[in-house]
Amino acid sequence: MIAPPRPNAYRDTWAGDLDASREGTEARVAGWVNRRRDHGGLIFIDLRDRSGIVQLVFHPETSADAFALAERLRAEHVISVAGRVERREEGNVNPALPTGEIEIGVSACDVLAHSETPPFPIDEDTPVDETLRLRYRWLDLRRRGMLDAMLARALVVRTMRDILDARDFVDIETPILTRSTPEGARDFLVPSRAAQGSFYALPQSPQLFKQLLMIAGYERYYQIARCFRDEDTRADRQPEFTQLDVEMAFVSEDDVLELMEAVMAAVFAAADFPVAPTPWPRMHYDEAIARFGFDRPDTRFGLEIRDVSELVRGSDFRVFEGVLGSGGVVRAINAGAREMSRSELEGLNDVVRVHGARAVAPIVVGDGGWTGNLAKFFAAEQVAAVNEALDATDGDLLLFVADEVDVTAPALGGLRLHLGERFGLIPEGRHDLVWITDFPMFARDEESGGWTALHHPFTAPRGDLSDPAGLRSRAYDLVLDGVEIGGGSIRINTLDVQQAVFDVLGLGPDEAQARFGHLLGALRYGAPPHGGIAMGIDRIAALIAGRESIRDVIAFPKTASGHDPMTGAPATVEEQQLRELALRPVAVKARG
Ligand code: ASP
Repeated sequence: MIAPPRPNAYRDTWAGDLDASREGTEARVAGWVNRRRDHGGLIFIDLRDRSGIVQLVFHPETSADAFALAERLRAEHVISVAGRVERREEGNVNPALPTGEIEIGVSACDVLAHSETPPFPIDEDTPVDETLRLRYRWLDLRRRGMLDAMLARALVVRTMRDILDARDFVDIETPILTRSTPEGARDFLVPSRAAQGSFYALPQSPQLFKQLLMIAGYERYYQIARCFRDEDTRADRQPEFTQLDVEMAFVSEDDVLELMEAVMAAVFAAADFPVAPTPWPRMHYDEAIARFGFDRPDTRFGLEIRDVSELVRGSDFRVFEGVLGSGGVVRAINAGAREMSRSELEGLNDVVRVHGARAVAPIVVGDGGWTGNLAKFFAAEQVAAVNEALDATDGDLLLFVADEVDVTAPALGGLRLHLGERFGLIPEGRHDLVWITDFPMFARDEESGGWTALHHPFTAPRGDLSDPAGLRSRAYDLVLDGVEIGGGSIRINTLDVQQAVFDVLGLGPDEAQARFGHLLGALRYGAPPHGGIAMGIDRIAALIAGRESIRDVIAFPKTASGHDPMTGAPATVEEQQLRELALRPVAVKARG
């Protein structure tokens, strides 16, 4: 329901609010021609506004003028009409439509604007090529499905604000034109005209500003923040996206998690999205990797991963022995009794190759032992021990991957998700939330061989920095149905720890000062313990609206390659503009 409109020359009610209780009264409505049907002596028009649809009937005897106009109305023309609300004839009642019992007998009609024939139908949610939808986004947004998605998104944001406002969080804006913030992606740069040769960076997140607000004593901050990351095309990412950004002072993990559970539980309740009551389960990072292969486990179905390295060690199977001998692992999932053709089984190799593994070794359990040509390599006790570890019974398909641990875990994780989908193992309507905690503090940077911060370099370590490889951080992620929907951490609030972390990352005092001098400066002036989190609003809205792509919950998104087919952005600019910025294009690649 939308609040009633203020009556004016165009309308005195929403189309979608009319029902049999208004029978016999006059109504004035305005909107778009959704559909037009000419029945010889009568013309029927479905009029659409944001609230819904109402049927208009144009009868030459009621108004010859209006009837003459109606003859020329086409889809998406904009009109305002007045008339009497009438009950439809018995056979014409449409129970699928909230206004289906009535229609308006039009006595006056104003045509306010014409429309060209739209490039795709607006009145039905038929699939339309996405580039065409984005090119004509203003038409796409008129479609009911998009309206519902946008309303779902607005509800998410409003509910977040309600809970945070009620808890005295202060909504504070932070700059869009700023300096580089390290969230691990490439910055978008904006050249300065006033200081030629210098650049602003668009924020990858408000991270440092929200920490400065804690040091400034604001205690509780939030912002619906736009973030910008110039990442290479990856499935369903946008170069700009929206986060609920939160920070609190004098808190530890429990405080942040409790707050965000309250916020998100309210969001899910408002959207009728069924989730378990709070508190939501917490899982150690190591456990997530071991059981599910990823730090964003989809816990809605079984097929969990087991490590069987010790149970198969010493077999005659050279592949396993080779891997175990060089410090790798053998892990497996019991896929259950599944009918899979030979070629489908072969296809599983492609699933694990994505994660760098070479192959899957499939074994079928039969007569208490193993069938197939791998069986002969294993002693009876090994077979029995593995079967027990995997809860295997006759007919079950066991899938093994042997490789380095960092390859085996995601390979089996990917395999597990593949099987979950292939065999429909995710119960309809089930949604699982889980917090992941105790992340490693650092990860190896493959290119440089040095350390990078797994979350960001302002995250507090769980212990001292003498052993970067084993060190854990005070970071946490919230995972919904195998998708990370938010993450944050307790931050470093002393200069010496912050500098020590920079040292591990290879940022000496001078470089740290040059890049993060403002944070380091602030840490000298009494920084309270603080922590926070950011929630991905696009992803949350998409999950709630049941949309596959976040593009469907963003009014004006870009394509996967960062292009906007509607405005044509990114686009070339006038030479004069470049001159003012002291920029010269060195090479212009022709757009294909
Ligand atoms: N700034 C982080 C991010 O954008 C979230 C946080 O640590 O609060 O991922």
